[in-house]
Amino acid sequence: MNYSISRRAASLTPSLTLAIDAKAKQMKADGIDVVVFGAGEPDFPTPPHIVEAAIKALLDGFTKYTPSSGIPELRQAAADKFSRDNGLVYKPSQIIVSCGGKHSCCNVILATCNPGDEVIIPAPYWLSYPEMVRLAEATPVIIETTDKTEFKIAPEQLRAAITPRTRLFILNSPSNPTGSVYTPEEIKALGDICVEKGVLIMSDEIYEKLVYDGAQHASVAAFSPQHFQHTIIVHGLAKAYSMTGWRIGLTAAPEPIAKAIDAIQSHSTSNPTSFAQKGAVAALTGPQDHLPLWVAEFARRRVYAWKRLNCMPGLSCVNAKGAFYLFPNISQTGLGSLDFCSQLLDKQKVAAVPGTAFGAADYIRLSYATSMESIEKGLDRIESFLRGRA
Ligand SMILES: *Cc1c(COP(=O)(O)O)cnc(C)c1O
Repeated sequence: MNYSISRRAASLTPSLTLAIDAKAKQMKADGIDVVVFGAGEPDFPTPPHIVEAAIKALLDGFTKYTPSSGIPELRQAAADKFSRDNGLVYKPSQIIVSCGGKHSCCNVILATCNPGDEVIIPAPYWLSYPEMVRLAEATPVIIETTDKTEFKIAPEQLRAAITPRTRLFILNSPSNPTGSVYTPEEIKALGDICVEKGVLIMSDEIYEKLVYDGAQHASVAAFSPQHFQHTIIVHGLAKAYSMTGWRIGLTAAPEPIAKAIDAIQSHSTSNPTSFAQKGAVAALTGPQDHLPLWVAEFARRRVYAWKRLNCMPGLSCVNAKGAFYLFPNISQTGLGSLDFCSQLLDKQKVAAVPGTAFGAADYIRLSYATSMESIEKGLDRIESFLRGRA
């Protein structure tokens, strides 16, 4: 029997973060007191009214197939959200509900890219983007950035990266892994170039609600009708409602792209989980009062961690204004990010994600979506680690 796997599958890099994560989990299971800065999800529980809506849906027997692109109620609630929060007018038919924001991203890329097309991705990037582009047999074109520009690309860099084969530009603000937030002016300038060059933008706005220090989220779709026509928004409930396990993502797209995504989805996953969709309706239409509390708590942890990191020998950290990550520069320690993280885990029992996973070997990613107590303990240990080396 020939078990050789497809070229498509062979082109993927298994998640680098997984090795460290698995090791940290094993250490925990062995009773070792590990501090985990690796989490990509809020540490708060899903708000109870959302949970109750899903339970009610189950008890009411809402347990069958739904339309593949989502229940009309949820597509309407999502359209209302874009109108309310972003001033964007979408018909429910332009909204596709998928099995998580990650699935939404993958569908967008599969629906728009042909083999040989180029997709521009600023680094540091969310590690799944280039892999999804490879799955579509398209080519990731990476634009490097550093902490000197707060990991933001300049319009000229985008312009220089565009070729006749460019199909898509992936914008993720606020960013995972850096926490960077582009200003509305910066977003508009990038959007202007895509409009001029006829390049589609996939704007991943999943961290929209998690911004600090007066930073403002702007959707690139909102600047003009032309910007709107060039943009596909990916959104989801995972981060702002702490619903990572529910697997509900949203895409808002021009009608032909929405139709193409629906076709892909109808032959791959079919509908996202029926009762999770009911929970998502409750999330989007119900009270939003958990958000200011979560944002205030994230803000407090962020400032604390940021200040401490900048006092540690060999580290420097720019002030990230969004999401729940800090991305300190470790290049002065003389260690690459993989060695840094593996030694930190071995010697100090602290798990962090090497920047290499995100295309940036001089950095590590620390998530502050964990308790203040863990953050204090973890930072004490990172400090000991660095002083031990200094
Ligand atoms: C978390 C995340 C998503 C979506 O996550 P899901 O759990 O699939 O909804 C999308 N983009 C980025 C950058 C993320 O960090």
